[in-house]
Amino acid sequence: MATATPTNRRGQEASAWRTAQRQFDQAADLIDLEPELRCVLREVQREFTCHFPVRMDDGRVEVFTGYRVQHNIHRGPAKGGIRYHPEVSLDEVKALAMWMTWKCAVVDIPFGGAKGGVVVDPRRLSLQELERLTRRFATEIGVLIGPERDIPAPDVNTDARVMAWIMDTVSMHTGYSVPATVTGKPVEVGGSLGRVEATGRGVAICALAAMQHLGMRPHAVRVAVQGFGNVGSVSARLLEEMGCSIVAVSDEYGGIHNPKGLPVRRLIEHREREGRLGGFPGGEEIPPDGPLTVDCDLLVPAALGNQLTSRNASEVRARLIVEGANGPTTPEADEILRDRGVFLVPDILANAGGVTVSYFEWVQDLQSFFWSEHEVNQKLRAIMQRAFQQVLATSQERHLSMRMAAYVQAVQRVAAATRERGLYPC
Ligand code: NAD
Repeated sequence: MATATPTNRRGQEASAWRTAQRQFDQAADLIDLEPELRCVLREVQREFTCHFPVRMDDGRVEVFTGYRVQHNIHRGPAKGGIRYHPEVSLDEVKALAMWMTWKCAVVDIPFGGAKGGVVVDPRRLSLQELERLTRRFATEIGVLIGPERDIPAPDVNTDARVMAWIMDTVSMHTGYSVPATVTGKPVEVGGSLGRVEATGRGVAICALAAMQHLGMRPHAVRVAVQGFGNVGSVSARLLEEMGCSIVAVSDEYGGIHNPKGLPVRRLIEHREREGRLGGFPGGEEIPPDGPLTVDCDLLVPAALGNQLTSRNASEVRARLIVEGANGPTTPEADEILRDRGVFLVPDILANAGGVTVSYFEWVQDLQSFFWSEHEVNQKLRAIMQRAFQQVLATSQERHLSMRMAAYVQAVQRVAAATRERGLYPC
């Protein structure tokens, strides 16, 4: 029998797909899921890989690899972001697609789960190269996406502009504008007000609900945030507005720590000016993973997956973790944190605000009838609060962690839809 070396143990612990399947298996055991449904739901339905050429500014042609995976479409069209990152892999995209299925089910919106990605470091591309890459990738996945079938959205290193290019490319091929093809678009071309902030807002709503449950007063809560992009910076700003003190933040280059609190708006301005947090006056510099283990009450991991592992979970000082990122905690770290009594609001619940407002955007596009930002935020708050309370009730009734309670709820909903639809052909 092969023994796991420390390196391959770490590799295994870091496999997002393995994490996703383990989490699903645990939930399936808990609800005694019948074997037929178990083997269907533990795999992705469709996985698409493409290798496509892009003309670079210097005239060379480079071939890039991209993926689009649909895990399940029984509750509605597939939904999920597109990520541009040098470490994108099929394994990771499959896990992210499965998590999207559970995420949509946990907040009870009528979508299935998908995810996409391109293996690329977008920082080394010019704007024109980025646009050519996006339009060609949109054409490649054009065989899968569309308002009734699979609706992409932004994720790491993709934004509203990238979504506009995808929507425009699909519309050019269709012959008329199809705004509901993607969400997270600029407001000028059918985007929803409130979408940019939605994930961070959902994180803050969940954090507040968890603080209330634990009897923590926001004014006495010190927060550390890993990742200061869309999710991390908005979460930090809204938590600061609620009265919390933000004591540590980081991005991929490094971070800043000040036990007395950091001014979030000035941090955002500094990052916009300098392209990074480093060099911000008024705090001590820390490494990118610094926020995970600083002295704080609430930790928001909002960078990438696999950040809390068996190597650092026992050093986490926070009493409450609200997962802004997808899959930031490995199963091994999860167990350590649970044994230590840390209350953790899992990713599929905590960061579901983005897909919830994406759902609002899709509904608005299909109806060509647009809502005010106030209306969007109110509807978002109602859905997030309801989902949080449902997961909390399941966790209390069945003596489960919040993660398992969220999984149980989500897997039950998806299994019910799959069961009702039956097997085709019989
Ligand atoms: P983003 O690209 O806007 O920001 C990512 C941030 O993480 C950047 O500040 C980057 O510098 C930082 N980062 C990267 N590697 C890091 C490291 N090793 N240590 C510390 N910081 C690091 O991306 P985003 O949209 O904010 O997404 C962040 C996470 O939230 C991802 O896991 C994403 O899948 C998840 N998420 C995003 C949305 C959304 O609507 N944007 C929705 C749900 C989940």
